[in-house]
Amino acid sequence: MPTGVAPYLTEELKKELSRIADAIARPGHGILAADESTGTMGKRLANINLENTDDNRRHYRQLLFTSDKELANYISGVILYDETFWQKDDNGNRFVDVLKNAGIIPGIKVDKGVVPLPGTFNNECTTQGLDDLNARCAKYKENGADFAKWRCVLKISDLTPSPLAIMENANVLARYAVCCQQNGLVPIVEPEVLPDGDHSLERAQYVTEKVLAATYKALSDHHVFLEGTLLKPNMVTAGQACAVKYTPEQVAQATVTALNRTVPAAVPGITFLSGGQSETDATIHLNAINTYQGKKPWSLTFSYGRALQASVLQAWGGKPENVKKGQETLMHRAKCNGLASIGKYTGEEAAGAASQSLFVKDHAY
Ligand code: 13P
Repeated sequence: MPTGVAPYLTEELKKELSRIADAIARPGHGILAADESTGTMGKRLANINLENTDDNRRHYRQLLFTSDKELANYISGVILYDETFWQKDDNGNRFVDVLKNAGIIPGIKVDKGVVPLPGTFNNECTTQGLDDLNARCAKYKENGADFAKWRCVLKISDLTPSPLAIMENANVLARYAVCCQQNGLVPIVEPEVLPDGDHSLERAQYVTEKVLAATYKALSDHHVFLEGTLLKPNMVTAGQACAVKYTPEQVAQATVTALNRTVPAAVPGITFLSGGQSETDATIHLNAINTYQGKKPWSLTFSYGRALQASVLQAWGGKPENVKKGQETLMHRAKCNGLASIGKYTGEEAAGAASQSLFVKDHAY
């Protein structure tokens, strides 16, 4: 057996990857996941009776990215969808440059969506997009992206996740991560265990541990440079239909325990997805995770889609006169989560819409 790794990343590239990952995960900051595919964005716009046109999607993203400069006090990175990556604001500036000028790092979703794993129970799936990934990563880096995201999905039921789904998704995440790193993009590794089902917190913790352990075994097998990666896991929560309600402290304990058992300390940051939790639950849980007394060698922060945007969309409602209102709402949620990422969130008044569940069955991005 050969000893050591045949060098495939230069020391300079490793430094660059570490620098980007550290900057994204720096204290008090997290990620805005605004990488909804055209179809998913259509569903969000339909909720506010808006047609799913290029221009409506562009106007909405413009609202997000031209918010007050202070947004960069809480948001270190934004994940974009390919269409948005090439779009411009009303003044003809690329969104990528608008973000950079605001001190926010642009990232790009590079997976091409989930596809079924035939022969599995509970419609298990893998994620596609490896074929032309190298060329796409090179093009995104050249045009301003510094990190990437690839989402895999695992489902809990009595029979799943199967060993096949766990192994296949871990391997595809590792292949994606290597490809990103070779092209100077920090890979966000996202093995999402869905909240669908009535399983207990303990079952969610067990499954999350098995999935994360397999993921890090695959990353090691593929020689991924961990210091230049970020993990985007689910928080450990009970199934969405579970009759037992667990406290934020129980969620925090289950989550931190699962992470301690599986995620190497070399990983600089863990940026949770919100997974259909209400905006306020996502913030409360993140805060509880950060105030939990236990070993936490990584920064523990957010990379929220729904939990940063649901009330923004409501406040905007597709009306030009409400753009400011939408931006203020985004700032509020970003600040709450920025504080939660350092355990300093103390609650908020009249949470209203922010406390509504954002669960979507079998959620696709
Ligand atoms: P949610 O926060 O809406 O779960 O999604 C974040 C994300 O980027 C999923 O890939």
